[in-house]
Amino acid sequence: MPRGDGLLNHDLLPGEKGPQDACGVFGVWAPGEEVAKLTYFGLYALQHRGQESAGIAVSNGSQILVFKDMGLVSQVFDETSLSSLQGHIAVGHARYSTTGASVWENAQPTFRATAQGSIALAHNGNLVNTAELAGLVADLPERNNGSAPAATNDTDLVTALLAGQTDDDGKPLSIEAASSRILPQVRGAFSLVFMDEHTLYAARDPQGIRPLVLGRLERGWVVASESAALDICGASYVREIEPGEFVAIDENGLRSSRFADARPKGCVFEYVYLARPDTDIAGRNVYLSRVEMGRRLAAEAPAEADLVIATPESGTPAAIGYAEASGIPFGAGLVKNAYVGRTFIQPSQTIRQLGIRLKLNPLKEVIKGKRLVVVDDSIVRGNTQRALVRMLREAGAAEVHIRISSPPVKWPCFFGIDFATRAELIANGMTIEEIGTSLGADSLAYISIDGMIEATTIAKPNLCRACFDGEYPMDLPDPELLGKQLLETELAAPVETAASAAIRRP
Ligand code: SF4
Repeated sequence: MPRGDGLLNHDLLPGEKGPQDACGVFGVWAPGEEVAKLTYFGLYALQHRGQESAGIAVSNGSQILVFKDMGLVSQVFDETSLSSLQGHIAVGHARYSTTGASVWENAQPTFRATAQGSIALAHNGNLVNTAELAGLVADLPERNNGSAPAATNDTDLVTALLAGQTDDDGKPLSIEAASSRILPQVRGAFSLVFMDEHTLYAARDPQGIRPLVLGRLERGWVVASESAALDICGASYVREIEPGEFVAIDENGLRSSRFADARPKGCVFEYVYLARPDTDIAGRNVYLSRVEMGRRLAAEAPAEADLVIATPESGTPAAIGYAEASGIPFGAGLVKNAYVGRTFIQPSQTIRQLGIRLKLNPLKEVIKGKRLVVVDDSIVRGNTQRALVRMLREAGAAEVHIRISSPPVKWPCFFGIDFATRAELIANGMTIEEIGTSLGADSLAYISIDGMIEATTIAKPNLCRACFDGEYPMDLPDPELLGKQLLETELAAPVETAASAAIRRP
């Protein structure tokens, strides 16, 4: 496994976009196909979900090889590395870190030896009973055949638990049997894709917080975070992996079982911002949801203006919907540098001071003298929008009216999205009017929670919207048992026992 020294800085700008994506997972079982290449392109389609590290594990039926490194998928892999990964099963991962630092050791797929072989696992989501799982790992009789883990993420704990189960006589359990024992004990958001030497597995938490879909190839099966990743590798969409479902795929076909009853609470923010517009979740297309959010936003929060522009790219569908419903023309007022964040070079002080211009540049000829409606998908800290308003005024805008296609973000997410701490959220403790003044806008309005939810066409009880209304879809442990550094701090003390190698960094 190669080790990279460079750290990708995808958050170059002061006040850069607030919500950071969840991870992307991809798995394929396809004898006769170049599974590493299929996985590469699947991850390429899921790159927006995580840009810190990428990895692919491949099995040839007798051993699993893992190749992972820090950086974008296209930076981690080349023809040579992909051609070294030969086999018929593959699991891939593009990471954005939510539990565990962004370091090579925490890149995925995670890998563990078992008494019968090995396991490689990729995880999208974030767990809320990490400390409890660390305790279970510490209690394993023969943890990972004695080898100490290097990782400090929640994913490695699940991998260790699946690898280390035994029956009453002390005989090792298969991964399938271990899954039915362990998965009911895992709490939080998890869309898992994993494998041993012979079988591809997938599982989704009972709430189905993060998406996970099943696709069919002529000669095999694919599992992916988003349906858009099926399209890129020529797989046809079959269905979602159901909340609480476990799937195993091998030469005998696909076996499905349940480890928990489904209690659907899909993340509404996937529809607002996270997922690709060309993805469908729970039968609803993301792009159409965003356009509808824009239409409803126009009805709820009209503005007297000459031009609707979007904060590209994520605000564009809602801006199109806003323009359509309001009758105000839509125009491109901002040009986005598509390659921002794809550099290892730190900006100089002069460039840093230019801030948002690294990412967005106004089209002065389009916006000069105009009363603008600027549509964006969300406001987290507000730094980006504040800089944007200033830039648009400098470029000659007569008025700037900000319209947001999601409600104010007031609560943190514990299920795989890293917004900010509650204290950093601009909507926590300020009225909408105060936020608008702080941004320097002529007016500011957000869509209502019901307007956003209705635009998804998903029933309200089946969606998590906790970052907007504080109603979390499951009980949460005490705050000191949550957090990105949980396994890297003293907070791991309850499991800091003789077996603490399971959670200690080397
Ligand atoms: S808290 Fe917000 S971002 Fe997190 S899962 Fe729920 S809706 Fe999604």
